[in-house]
Amino acid sequence: MNITIVGTGYVGLVTGTTLAELGNSVYCVDIDEKKVEGMKNGIVPIYEPNLEEMFLRNIQSERLFFTTDLKEALDKSEVIYLALPTPPGEDGSADLSYVLKVAHDIGEMMTEYKVVVNKSTVPVGTADKVREMISSKTNLAFDVVSNPEFLREGFAVEDSMNPARVVVGSSSEKAKEIMAKIYQPFTNTGTPIIFMDEKSSELTKYAANSFLAVKITFMNEIANYCEKVGADVDKVRLGMGSDDRIGHRFLFPGIGYGGSCFPKDVKALIKSGKDDNFDFEILQATEKVNIAQKVILSSEIEKYFGGNLKGKRIAMWGLAFKANTDDIREASSLDNIAILLEKGAEIVAYDLIAEENVKKLLGDRISYANTMYDALEGADALFIATEWPEFKNPNFSLMAKKMNNKAIFDGRNMFPLELPQQNGFYYKSIGRKTIQ
Ligand code: NAD
Repeated sequence: MNITIVGTGYVGLVTGTTLAELGNSVYCVDIDEKKVEGMKNGIVPIYEPNLEEMFLRNIQSERLFFTTDLKEALDKSEVIYLALPTPPGEDGSADLSYVLKVAHDIGEMMTEYKVVVNKSTVPVGTADKVREMISSKTNLAFDVVSNPEFLREGFAVEDSMNPARVVVGSSSEKAKEIMAKIYQPFTNTGTPIIFMDEKSSELTKYAANSFLAVKITFMNEIANYCEKVGADVDKVRLGMGSDDRIGHRFLFPGIGYGGSCFPKDVKALIKSGKDDNFDFEILQATEKVNIAQKVILSSEIEKYFGGNLKGKRIAMWGLAFKANTDDIREASSLDNIAILLEKGAEIVAYDLIAEENVKKLLGDRISYANTMYDALEGADALFIATEWPEFKNPNFSLMAKKMNNKAIFDGRNMFPLELPQQNGFYYKSIGRKTIQ
């Protein structure tokens, strides 16, 4: 099948590459000329494990193409996926301007029947808005389908090639048949495709992300309470998670959720609720708790240094919002850097994958180290902000040698308590005893 993907970010590029891998001819459209030029030359514009190999293979097999020309791609494809940004507007609602602009252009440019598939995360009712926009520009037949994306950054290729389920919202039999054909390689091997109406499909994505944000936040509150009463959240987590109604996943406490999805989707669902005179109280509480959780360790660092951070050198391991991605949108590292700099501390960060993105944002307001140990040179404390696997089993004696003061503030509970303890470190993590 010939397919166009509009928007080649984390979702669009991975979806496009996956659909090419499944044998389709895929035309990826982006307005970013530099990015498109790079992709034409085989440069993957994002960091995503295992993407490059599949990307290059499909370019070579002439199934994956890149262009800035929507019309050129549209003319070649019956199905058009929208993988466009839906960032939070000032009032927290999802900004639909990217999606509606492209819907407008499709309406103006199309010359025959098209299926417009929305993969962006959008509020209930967006399919109707896209439909209205397109039909204000053309009398030709078309269908709009909601097909939310559930991939995780860092595992995007794996998730995209082996989805847990495919959700398709549509009221058109013709569009449903086309979608079933596209996803047939998945359904063939047992992946369920769940057909529903467009509104339910649009809400499914927000409900899923919001539920996960609540689960993380619930555990963070339990962790904070553990500290108050002397319980150990690692034990509580194991005890709880063994119940298969609860499960072990998403029970790891830390310095809050970030990224390009959970914060904005929780916000957008709260706002959608408000617009419909509906109060999502649980989500409002989640958002509030998460904002505080993200910076909980900055207060601990300040307390540890007696309220004075002037001239303190803080090493930061990890900048990305989570491991295995270069994405720093809403990363907890950034909130903490802002506070620590404001209080007069210096930051030396180490995160080879996310460093470039942070440099674009902060320039030389912080410095960057080439290795995790270089970051520790003369440091008064180490702050662990991202759970990169390389931090899991460090050389504590080398760390001790490099640091000016042996204190670790671990936002991702990377170590069993014994390790820093045996090596004489002060160790503050989340929901567990502080090692003094
Ligand atoms: P992104 O910001 O990484 O990429 C968006 C791309 O769209 C950019 O390359 C941008 O240049 C391009 N673009 C903007 N306007 C355009 C236009 N008019 N024509 C062509 N291209 C245009 O975004 P993303 O992270 O891939 O997210 C896309 C959507 O998918 C969002 O709604 C997001 O909520 C949702 N989503 C994201 C993830 C994730 O993990 N990132 C997961 C599931 C769903």
